[in-house]
Amino acid sequence: MTDVTVVGSGPNGLVAAVIAARAGLSVRVLEAAPTIGGGLRTAELTLPGFRHDVCATVHPAGLASPVFRKLGLLDRVDWVVPEMSYAHPLDGGRAGLAWRDLDRTVDGLGRDGAAWRRLLAPLIARSRGVVDFTGSQLLRVPRDPIAAVLFGLRALEQGSPAWNSRFDGDVAPALLTGVVAHAAGPMPSLSGAGAGMLLAMHGHGVGWGLPVGGSQVIADALADELRARGGEIVTDAAVTSLSDVADSRAVLLDTSPELLFSAELPASYARALRRYRYGSGVAKVDFALSGPVPWANPDVGLSPTVHLGGSRAEIAAAENAVHRGFQPGAAGADGGARHPYVLATQPTVADPSRAPAGKHVLWAYTHVPAGSTLDATELITAEVERFAPGFRDVVLASAASSAVEMGRYNANYIGGDIYSGELTLRQLVKRPVVSTAPWRTPIDGVYLCSSATPPGPAVHGFNGWFAAKLALKERFGLR
Ligand SMILES: Cc1cc2nc3c(=O)[nH]c(=O)nc-3n(C[C@H](O)[C@H](O)[C@H](O)COP(=O)(O)OP(=O)(O)OC[C@H]3O[C@@H](n4cnc5c(N)ncnc54)[C@H](O)[C@@H]3O)c2cc1C
Repeated sequence: MTDVTVVGSGPNGLVAAVIAARAGLSVRVLEAAPTIGGGLRTAELTLPGFRHDVCATVHPAGLASPVFRKLGLLDRVDWVVPEMSYAHPLDGGRAGLAWRDLDRTVDGLGRDGAAWRRLLAPLIARSRGVVDFTGSQLLRVPRDPIAAVLFGLRALEQGSPAWNSRFDGDVAPALLTGVVAHAAGPMPSLSGAGAGMLLAMHGHGVGWGLPVGGSQVIADALADELRARGGEIVTDAAVTSLSDVADSRAVLLDTSPELLFSAELPASYARALRRYRYGSGVAKVDFALSGPVPWANPDVGLSPTVHLGGSRAEIAAAENAVHRGFQPGAAGADGGARHPYVLATQPTVADPSRAPAGKHVLWAYTHVPAGSTLDATELITAEVERFAPGFRDVVLASAASSAVEMGRYNANYIGGDIYSGELTLRQLVKRPVVSTAPWRTPIDGVYLCSSATPPGPAVHGFNGWFAAKLALKERFGLR
């Protein structure tokens, strides 16, 4: 009998597996896909020599994660932290630029610079407390209550109709909205503002760093340690029922909660799971480029992360349209939003090792209604062209994944929801159920450790860490 079986080899599954192996237990990881990594895979999706991150590329959450620090990932992986965290081009060649250096950012924002500083400087000064508050369950006493209050007040402001009261111009609010929109939900909203505040704080703190070579190296570092400690990883091993893993003393699921329905569940728990909601989808396109993107504002070319979609009002219109089931930019069916919000990364500006000399990779995704089959190549290309005329001329090849295809690629992305559950305030508390230990399921020895548990998505390993600690204590009496 295996001590611990982990289903799924995303960052949370691998973190959980390593923690169990470090405790001296026998560990086996079962992964449905042919390769390991979940949201950390890097692959040649377009042309030979062009290495694209299939999902995550930028890792502020990882760099700030105490779990990554404790597991030695900050030292074992070679990180590059760019001087600019993210850029936001606007019409007419203007752009908001979030440098890692707060002063430089404030200088560039002109009359709204001081307001930007007042918003973020208090959080940066208490960033550990903010990470503690946001890195677990919301329903618990925070270690640094002042950090929690400062964070909460800012999220309340930017998540409410008063969100425009802070700024006079249009650059700073657009710059912030590009980050808030990562949460993929209606705007303004508390959960989106909270996610945005956290990411913007990291932008001037640990930075929006990237692992040299692509995100796969993070998964490989965890897998190397697991194997060195005697753990086993089996790929092409989809688990379709919990009865497949009944030969383990503990089972950790880096999966969506749907897999739990393969077992007999208490009626109240099953009811709560059925009320768990999945959010809108993502349609992604990977591009191989013959040269750098010809941004109208050349400073935008310095940033690995670029947010497109225009002004705060335009991005809010796009995100609200998607939430109502419309496709921004689809003439006649756009729900009043002419431009989509597009999150783009051009990692080769900071890590040239991912493409042949002088060439680049770029991925971009846009939010789409759940279950959409849209090939977003033209929609995204047009939005990049809006701020980088001539972009089409540098595209050598591209590969698109619709929301439905994202869901086929990873069973956790239901309807193309890459967060395994909508990010609303309610679902940050109820993830997937309201409990003091939501990682525990009512099935004996079975725990959930994916981003469908607190503290939610991103590559930080917290979910795997909390679930593994609980399993080690309850199943093996280990602390
Ligand atoms: C396009 C995209 C861009 C992103 N960008 C970023 C970013 O830049 N920074 C960031 O921090 N986060 C980013 N994210 C989010 C991040 O990737 C996820 O939040 C994170 O990977 C979740 O980790 P996880 O371990 O919970 O699950 P996942 O990484 O989704 O891994 C789950 C694994 O379990 C496997 N699995 C599922 N069901 C089964 C089953 N029944 N049997 C066996 N195996 C199964 C899947 O194949 C998968 O390998 C991005 C996501 C996407 C899709």
